[in-house]
Amino acid sequence: MSDSIQCLRIDLAERSYNIEIGSGNLSRITDFLLECGRVSHAVVISDENVQKLHASVVAEELANRSIDVDMIVVEPGETSKSIDVAAGLWHGMLELGADRKTVVVAVGGGVVGDLAGFIAATYARGVRFLQVPTTLLSQVDSSVGGKVGINLEDAKNMVGAFLQPMGVLIDTATLNTLAEREYRSGLAEVVKYGVILDAEFFGYLEENVEGLLGKDPEVLRHVVFRCCELKASVVQDDEREETGLRAILNYGHTFGHAMEVLAGYGEILHGEAVSIGMLCASRLAEKLGRVDAEFTDRQFELLQSLGLPVKVPMSDIDQIIEKMMNDKKVQHGKLRFVLPARMGKVELVGDVDPDDIRSSLRSV
Ligand code: NAD
Repeated sequence: MSDSIQCLRIDLAERSYNIEIGSGNLSRITDFLLECGRVSHAVVISDENVQKLHASVVAEELANRSIDVDMIVVEPGETSKSIDVAAGLWHGMLELGADRKTVVVAVGGGVVGDLAGFIAATYARGVRFLQVPTTLLSQVDSSVGGKVGINLEDAKNMVGAFLQPMGVLIDTATLNTLAEREYRSGLAEVVKYGVILDAEFFGYLEENVEGLLGKDPEVLRHVVFRCCELKASVVQDDEREETGLRAILNYGHTFGHAMEVLAGYGEILHGEAVSIGMLCASRLAEKLGRVDAEFTDRQFELLQSLGLPVKVPMSDIDQIIEKMMNDKKVQHGKLRFVLPARMGKVELVGDVDPDDIRSSLRSV
């Protein structure tokens, strides 16, 4: 294996698997797949954007090494995480003669990964699947951890499963074709890992803003590797979100999700909403005397220098609070927040005074 490729092993009750991170290693897909297990038939699932750019490369590489390959392509975007699209994929798999020995290979962003993983979890009572994430968000977050699923009309990610992939192949060079706004949105999740789990990593990000913006291969490889390592450590300790530990990954998401929904999906990207949401959570932590203003200012500076939004985009603060109360994660009408205690350490805090929430939203 070349020096420019790093490998990470994730050990879970259901399955242990490798995450390979490199730059330009997409051509290793067949070797990687065969290292994960015996494969004779693969169904590549992708979307129209990624098909032309990367999924066709994956399919060609697999076919060159006498694996029987089929490809199913869905429309890009969140609307593809639907029951109708899933039903189309089940029928498509059946027509292709897929059986329990088939491997589903998801090539795309979080939408394709969640959808293809859900198909793998349900078709023929479950087939194996491999993740090849091609957005920054999917490389640092959604491809690791085994959450797969689709949306109901009014409830995001409401139907799904925990299905760990047989492996995750990450080629950071695929990010070169990603829209700049999508890329930067993914950087918000990267910053999140620093704040919640790793102060040193946060410092590294501050020192490497230029490399991050310029997609320097070394910087990207290090960043994606560290994020996967941190996510893996959380998932290993709370695979099925039972102990509350996995909830720390939601830092900034309670505020962010409300703003994302209020603005209308697609108006503010997920990572953009998380960027603003982290600042709201941090200002709230200030109000509760947990951190000082300098702590939030550091996050503000970094997020702003990465080209992420840092201001609450709507003036009706009460509407945001109302939306937060309607979130499916709210238990018995009580809002709980993931709030920082210091850089690299966050805690779950309940029973927060609505006036403090209001004033933290006003200060961002
Ligand atoms: P996405 O999958 O919609 O991709 C964003 C856009 O980029 C799409 O238009 C896609 O076609 C395009 N694209 C993808 N890779 C590209 C590339 N290399 N070059 C050019 N274009 C490319 O969005 P996303 O942000 O990756 O994922 C969002 C989804 O992830 C949401 O549905 C969310 O619920 C889910 N998610 C899941 C988890 C989990 O643990 N399973 C975690 C976080 C988010």
